[in-house]
Amino acid sequence: MRKEGLLIVLSGPSGCGKDTIISQVLNHLGDDGFLSVSMTTRPRRGTEIDGVDYYFVTPEQFRENVENDLMLEYAQYGANFYGTPVGPVKHLLAQGKIVILNIEVQGGKNVRRLMPDAIEIFVAPPSLQELERRLINRGTESRDAIDRRLLIAQAELRCAADYDYIVINDVLEDAVEDILAIIRASGLKQEHAMHRISEVMNHAES
Ligand code: 5GP
Repeated sequence: MRKEGLLIVLSGPSGCGKDTIISQVLNHLGDDGFLSVSMTTRPRRGTEIDGVDYYFVTPEQFRENVENDLMLEYAQYGANFYGTPVGPVKHLLAQGKIVILNIEVQGGKNVRRLMPDAIEIFVAPPSLQELERRLINRGTESRDAIDRRLLIAQAELRCAADYDYIVINDVLEDAVEDILAIIRASGLKQEHAMHRISEVMNHAES
């Protein structure tokens, strides 16, 4: 019996620290964990690298990918489109890997419908005031964009109830530990771990 991969969806308001959490979680997972690289029509920010942080594309290129069924899910967020290329996700899951999607709540909803085995985690800031402080400190957005993201954040927080798990990112190390614990427990669920029983039985027979 093959070892099944795990699809982990992480959503939460922009600025709540998802990116930092994910990079620390990936450090812990080593060769077993991958972050899906999304496609977006939003402009590249200062230190971002095309093909690493995102695939930066034009609206026309994005639409072509959608029309050719190359996206697992996609959504509009603010003025831009974001989507998950389906190929790499399916390939990595078939190899038994842990694949993390860092996506907003509309995408989370679509993945829930398309891939019900996905484990969905909502990451929330300790408060809206703290979220605003983090967005200002990040210094990548105009005041207008920050206000827009704070409005979206309030709508996103209302979607937390649809997620399997909720993690509050107050102390970073604790949030990372929480997510690693969820991943560990999910990997032990019967539907993901039956290959272990086959291994036990094969071992007994040999
Ligand atoms: P940012 O512009 O800050 O990088 O991302 C804005 C929002 O888009 C974040 O909430 C992020 O999780 C979400 N996002 C990034 N990639 C995808 C994607 O492939 N699909 C969806 N639905 N949302 C995404």
